[in-house]
Amino acid sequence: MGSTTALYLARGGMKVSLIDRGSIAREASGVNAGTLTMHMTRADLIPYAMRGWEMWRDADQWLGLKSGITTTDGLCLAFTEEEADMLRQRSEVRRAAGAPIRIIDRSEARRIEPSLTEKVRLAAHCPIDGHVSAYLTGMAYRRALISDGVNIMERAGVTGIDDLGYGYQINTLAGTIQARRIVLAGGAWLGQMLSWLGINIRIRSLVNQLIVTERLPVTMRTVITVASGLLSLKQFANGTTLIGGGWQGAGGPERNTMSIIPENMIGNTRLAAYAIPALKKTRVVRAWLGPEAETDDAMPIIGPVPGRPGAFVIGSVHSGYTSGPYMGRLMADFILGRESEHPLFPVDRLIKNTLEA
Ligand SMILES: Cc1cc2nc3c(=O)[nH]c(=O)nc-3n(C[C@H](O)[C@H](O)[C@H](O)COP(=O)(O)OP(=O)(O)OC[C@H]3O[C@@H](n4cnc5c(N)ncnc54)[C@H](O)[C@@H]3O)c2cc1C
Repeated sequence: MGSTTALYLARGGMKVSLIDRGSIAREASGVNAGTLTMHMTRADLIPYAMRGWEMWRDADQWLGLKSGITTTDGLCLAFTEEEADMLRQRSEVRRAAGAPIRIIDRSEARRIEPSLTEKVRLAAHCPIDGHVSAYLTGMAYRRALISDGVNIMERAGVTGIDDLGYGYQINTLAGTIQARRIVLAGGAWLGQMLSWLGINIRIRSLVNQLIVTERLPVTMRTVITVASGLLSLKQFANGTTLIGGGWQGAGGPERNTMSIIPENMIGNTRLAAYAIPALKKTRVVRAWLGPEAETDDAMPIIGPVPGRPGAFVIGSVHSGYTSGPYMGRLMADFILGRESEHPLFPVDRLIKNTLEA
């Protein structure tokens, strides 16, 4: 989100530096499942996710990203009557928010995805789903940012920010830099960044698990999720399948503190093989974890930092890879004084909650 904001600020005529403690797009944005999904996006965020989906689809035009993007159908599955009720309700809410989701029966679901288990009871279908190879995105951003004149400062961890009254001094491990405006886009580290400016809100750090299998002949073409929300599954062009869905690992956002919980790896893999039985023949190659931020109300924080003129914050977006590019563009438009197509997500609401708690 920081990279997109930087890109559109530069395109809007600003002189921009992008500071990262490591390499850009190597934390959540480089290790996530890359699913572009309406089924797993919170209903309030559907209009943003749909715009994000369009931006990924057209990423060759604005980002120069030509490969690794697949747009396809998404199926969300229910296996029990209870899940079917949940699926109907959730799909209805998302459809009301603008997502082109419709409920289909088992035979239609198996026509769309022949490898699907016979045990599926009901499915929701969305024609605007898909996936992006997240590990390729950073390279495309780097090329676009450099070509638009953004000064990329990597391995320059920020240790604190001083409010100078007329702007900000950013203290990094690679020296200090001054700017009239700053945007905090620190993902799972946003809480710490806001505290440098005197804003203390709770931001939880989720540690999401992903599993990749060995290559298989073409087995599935859709993106599969389940009503209970604990599966995302798709096959890449190279034959590997990626299994995720929000199963958790142990530890915090720092890589050296994260570890796989074996039961969660087994549970996630079993659920995938239950949905697509052909996966029973394959083996797991690797599993990893990545950090994701979540506010108290699980909604984003995108807007000005209260009481700090010229300071802005963007992050904690549920299904944030799907809508991330659009959120970054919205942030940049706001800073550039352009009218926003959709409302931002002010941080003030959470400060109030924290004070009351
Ligand atoms: C395993 C996993 C799977 C996911 N799957 C999906 C999915 O399938 N679909 C979907 O839509 N979303 C998915 N998400 C969510 C999505 O990845 C995130 O919402 C999104 O990438 C967050 O982007 P961000 O820019 O806010 O954070 P990040 O990409 O984490 O960027 C934050 C940046 O801040 C930098 N930083 C931190 N501290 C400092 C400091 N002190 N100084 C300088 N820089 C600093 C970091 O180095 C990092 O580059 C998944 C998340 C994870 C972890």
